[in-house]
Amino acid sequence: TRAQLFQSQKIEALGQLTGGIAHDFNNLLQGIIGSLEVVEMRLASGRQDVDRFLGNALESAKRAATLTHRLLAFARRQPLAPKSVSLNPLVEQMAELLPATLGERIELELDLAPGLMPALCDPNLLESAILNLAINARDAMPNGGRLTIRTAAVPPGEGPLRRPHSLQEAPVLLLQVSDTGIGMTPEVRARAFDPFFTTKPKGRGTGLGLSMIHGFVTQSRGAIELESEPGRGTTVSIYLPSGERRNVRTHEVREAGTRWQP
Ligand code: ADP
Repeated sequence: TRAQLFQSQKIEALGQLTGGIAHDFNNLLQGIIGSLEVVEMRLASGRQDVDRFLGNALESAKRAATLTHRLLAFARRQPLAPKSVSLNPLVEQMAELLPATLGERIELELDLAPGLMPALCDPNLLESAILNLAINARDAMPNGGRLTIRTAAVPPGEGPLRRPHSLQEAPVLLLQVSDTGIGMTPEVRARAFDPFFTTKPKGRGTGLGLSMIHGFVTQSRGAIELESEPGRGTTVSIYLPSGERRNVRTHEVREAGTRWQP
């Protein structure tokens, strides 16, 4: 059923997240256990100087609690509701709101291909993806710069190097967000999609933006690519399946686990 399907999509996305969380959580837990063992040993031998170790344990436990809160917030998320979405009006609508987020020193440029067929994805999650990418772009351009949002149709045989099988032969839509900011080093680039990976100061970044966008795009049977060069800027390309009838059908039949023959 539909509900089961949403549930399995959610579990899949959670699975992608939990890998990263389990690792961090385990590290914190090891720290708590180690500190409490020291406390136990010291008290057993009549020593009272355990404050520092209790403090460490408490600090780690608080951080572990923050991790599980984030996980729960993610698990409560709304399920995907894919629809036929016209990219250009959605981008134009976002462009009305973005200047307030971007500030005066960042110029917003739209490069929208006319006559695009609709894409198939959840419009609310796509909006939130664009907003997240714009915030990342703003943070990468502290001295100002240019943010470009581009839409285009990608004919079969062009586009991402590792197109998912479901996109191999169908035309896809491209939504690209580029900035002229600080860019990423190869090390940052390699980890940028990892849940909770952030280079931003405490309280500013969650490290969840790109990982959630990645989850949303792959669940929409699309693909995402990152190009970045330190000092030059970053381009994020999101490829989405087209929402034409043929593809909707392919999508539904594949969901049911059957191969669809044209
Ligand atoms: P957050 O923005 O909370 O740090 P993200 O998952 O969105 O989390 O991004 C992870 C990291 O990837 C950022 O901390 C930053 O180092 C890098 N990054 C993301 N977008 C950009 C960009 N447009 N330019 C430069 N670096 C970026």
